[in-house]
Amino acid sequence: MIDLSSIVPDSIVDGPGIRVTIFCQGCPHRCKGCHNPKTWKFGSGTPTSVERIVEIVRQSPLARGVTFSGGEPFSQAAGYAKLARLLKAQGYEVASYSGYTFEEILAGDDDQRALLKELDVLIDGRFVLEERSLDTPFRGSRNQRLINVQESLKTGIPVEITTGRWVGQY
Ligand code: SF4
Repeated sequence: MIDLSSIVPDSIVDGPGIRVTIFCQGCPHRCKGCHNPKTWKFGSGTPTSVERIVEIVRQSPLARGVTFSGGEPFSQAAGYAKLARLLKAQGYEVASYSGYTFEEILAGDDDQRALLKELDVLIDGRFVLEERSLDTPFRGSRNQRLINVQESLKTGIPVEITTGRWVGQY
């Protein structure tokens, strides 16, 4: 089960193309200027099975990607890893936001590493109000990185995405 805050079926702001964005409930980071503070409190969302979430995603026929947002998806890593596996098996590109950095997740627990391994793209790092930017596609502040997860896992060193759809080049 995942403790859900909400699902936005046809988002164009959480990654390239039409995507389904899944907002989880609960975040430990408490960034100043957070865009979604109502998701901070743990245990106050709607517990939902990963199978049900996949059904909801499939109700958006134009969506080719799914983005996990929050809240902190890596605080519910076991459920999200299972969800990502099911979505990948159905051909979706899967991305996740996290207040943790790539390096922090790699040094985290087994469930967090398992979720990381399922992702195509990670947008990492806390939101830093002083570094807020409107010029960084799909990121709120300049410290956050767009990471090609599968390339990064080959060496353990984060590989940032600098060309293509994720930086606004279609
Ligand atoms: S990680 Fe995201 S949801 Fe959590 S406090 Fe920071 S901006 Fe808000």
